[in-house]
Amino acid sequence: MKDQYQVVVIGGGIVGCSVLYHLTLRGLTDVALIEREELTAGSTWHAAGGFHAMNADTRIAALQKYTIGLYPQVEAESGQSAGLHMSGGMELAGTAERWHWLKSELQWLRTQDTDAYLLTPEEATSMVPIIDPSGLYGALFDPLEGNLDPNGATQAYAGAARKRGAEVILHNRVLSLTRLPGGAWHVETEKGDITAEHVVNAAGLWARRVGNMVGVDHPLVPMPHHYLVTAEIPEIAAIEGDMAAVTDLEGFTYLQKEGNGVLLGVYEQNPRHWMVEGADWDFGRTLFPEELDRIMPELSIGFRRFPVLEEVGIRNWVNGAFTFTPDGNPLVGPVDGIPNYWAACGVMAGFSQCAGIGLAVANWIADGDPGYDVFGMDVARFGPYASNDRYLRATTAQFYARRFVMAYPNEELPAGRPLKTTPCYDEFRAAGAQFTVSWGLEVPLYFAPALDFEENDTLGRSNAEPIVAEEVAAARTAAGAYEIVQYARYEVRGPGAETWLDHLVAGRMPPVGAIRLAPMLNPAGRLMGDLSVARLEDDRFWLTGSYYLQAWHLRWFREHLPASGVELANITEERMGFSVSGPASRWILAELVHDDVSNDAFGFLRVRQMDVGTARAVVGRISLTGELGFEIVVPTNRHRTLLHELREAGAEHGLRLIGDRAIDSLRLEKGYGIWSAEFRQDYTPGMSGLDRFVAFDKGDFIGRDAAQRERETGARRRLVLLDVDAADADAAADDGIWIGDRLVGVVTSGAYGHHVDKSLALAYVDHDVAEANPELTVFVVGEPRTARILPQIPYDPRGAKLRD
Ligand SMILES: Cc1cc2nc3c(=O)[nH]c(=O)nc-3n(C[C@H](O)[C@H](O)[C@H](O)COP(=O)(O)OP(=O)(O)OC[C@H]3O[C@@H](n4cnc5c(N)ncnc54)[C@H](O)[C@@H]3O)c2cc1C
Repeated sequence: MKDQYQVVVIGGGIVGCSVLYHLTLRGLTDVALIEREELTAGSTWHAAGGFHAMNADTRIAALQKYTIGLYPQVEAESGQSAGLHMSGGMELAGTAERWHWLKSELQWLRTQDTDAYLLTPEEATSMVPIIDPSGLYGALFDPLEGNLDPNGATQAYAGAARKRGAEVILHNRVLSLTRLPGGAWHVETEKGDITAEHVVNAAGLWARRVGNMVGVDHPLVPMPHHYLVTAEIPEIAAIEGDMAAVTDLEGFTYLQKEGNGVLLGVYEQNPRHWMVEGADWDFGRTLFPEELDRIMPELSIGFRRFPVLEEVGIRNWVNGAFTFTPDGNPLVGPVDGIPNYWAACGVMAGFSQCAGIGLAVANWIADGDPGYDVFGMDVARFGPYASNDRYLRATTAQFYARRFVMAYPNEELPAGRPLKTTPCYDEFRAAGAQFTVSWGLEVPLYFAPALDFEENDTLGRSNAEPIVAEEVAAARTAAGAYEIVQYARYEVRGPGAETWLDHLVAGRMPPVGAIRLAPMLNPAGRLMGDLSVARLEDDRFWLTGSYYLQAWHLRWFREHLPASGVELANITEERMGFSVSGPASRWILAELVHDDVSNDAFGFLRVRQMDVGTARAVVGRISLTGELGFEIVVPTNRHRTLLHELREAGAEHGLRLIGDRAIDSLRLEKGYGIWSAEFRQDYTPGMSGLDRFVAFDKGDFIGRDAAQRERETGARRRLVLLDVDAADADAAADDGIWIGDRLVGVVTSGAYGHHVDKSLALAYVDHDVAEANPELTVFVVGEPRTARILPQIPYDPRGAKLRD
């Protein structure tokens, strides 16, 4: 062990070893992994070793595919077998609804270039003869599944990394981490002190404790999990070679071949937590006694699906812990305010995800960028709220219990809610609001006329759609008031504010009193934000972004902030307000202000401070609905009063409260994109159409060269608006767009345009397709639907209403 390394990886499980290997692949060889005990001594040694490519997040699915494809390379480099069995795996459908869902999932998987296919119950049982097919509708088979030897795989990664120059130091616990004045880390270990430029927390069951060493409280918690391994089963012993793995979605169990018997794992409905703050430092390779009473309901279902298990002996039980996060995805990347500390923890599916995590962390350390859109596993997708003990227990238990439960696209899950509410929450509830949640905050979806209204969970359009249609009609014909708490606001002040912002965003700085849309890019020219910049005073700006991106954006802003001359403040929780839009919105506002808000005095994209009702407000002439509209932002303690004043002033003008679903319908009628759907790190200004807001003729800004290159060569894909010949369901994100067998694009969001009476979808399609505009096929909930690119947006294509 040396006393100095460029990178120290803490933890020798499958994740730490993969990170180490990927660092060496990126040419970083002055690196060491430090392990408390032996390699695999955390969750890794007792894992079932199963892996799969499928993930609800297509970006994570791609990284899982990368992980699976990399094992042979790591085996070859290290000379160590990972015990790979590429058996394929099937998901069983025991209900008609589930079967419908699996069929639609197959179409969705086709867009991800997999060779998955459907099986009849007979085909499923011919592959796995111990399945009882009664009640089965069929199964979805994916060849990209299998299992491996956890110890072999971990050793293979460590061996391959060693061959490329990395050091692996065992039996040496990291005791503390202290920041040195120059920014490096002082790493105190049992075997001596080290200075490291970067540290990576891959400490698995202990990751929360290691995070605490640098003042971070990661939202992850260990939970025990059971599987059993049987004695020999003749039907299994008779299978030559591998046997497909089975996930029984209604049965909460998974099954794989293990020797001449099987391994059956259980995701019980009544899970429990263990050592929420992290395992004790001296926790050894210990299993917990099996808790049969707790898992018996699901185990019984498993025994019914695989009846031979009732007769065969159980060779051993494994009840061990691994970590969960509120959404089940890992925590990866740098942490705002703690430079050179990297998270690679909270990993529930280590053997599916280790290489994707290793690749992202290594790229990030080497290039300052993960190289892919990894928001779904970015540590910055959660705020501090997620580490609260009660919240964490509720959400992780919900995730664990629903691991195999089908999630409907319109389903709202209850755990940890309500957590954050605005001052209008009770009043909204009294007005019939149904809520969704964004970054822990309750956000109205729509306002139902009946307080006991219950939305049906469905793959298609729900019974709430008529209510959404009424809200859309109100905004198009009178006025709709929408609570604008989905936005985060940052105040940027000081003598250096303009220069800094001008470099940070690709758009042009507005003059005082104006708002400009401002795409923000990374050096590779990919989108980092669809911000707006409002200039309130010469050296005072408001930057507006998405509410749930606060930690992510603040990390980026601070990475680029100069040492002096600019003050950056997150004022999101201090300011709230409403967007009022629709033809009557000006009359409503006029009743509450002394200022002249006529078009001549207060035109489109202007911003002004004025009294609205009893509050001093910042009012912007901007809207997401495509109507004449105003965003009124007030101090949070005036937010509720503003609601009363708006409702009173709006009563005679037909003002109606509207929610998120109506906004989706309204914005699609205008072809407007939003972050996380049309705008994300995968996309560029040229693809998304945001290039029209890029000021190529201004000075340098982040991503300028890449954006300029794209401008010269042209974008490969383009954002278009589709008119879909849908029936009772609208297209959704990641639905594939086909011409015959050629995948030509992918949907980013879909909704029914209630005013224009069309099923609409925003989508990225290949450039030649966008030019030629042929008939397309979109698979909506698995059904082929014809679609056309709309030659112009269907509502107010010239934008006259906005500017009126
Ligand atoms: C019963 C069971 C079945 C499972 N089945 C599967 C499966 O089929 N497929 C799948 O993908 N996943 C499965 N898992 C989950 C899988 O085990 C984890 O996703 C994976 O092991 C996580 O690896 P890790 O490297 O993040 O953490 P760990 O394996 O916990 O490794 C962390 C390492 O860090 C070390 N460490 C901690 N603190 C320090 C310190 N201060 N100094 C030095 N070293 C330190 C520890 O000793 C440990 O070796 C299963 C888990 C269980 C319990």
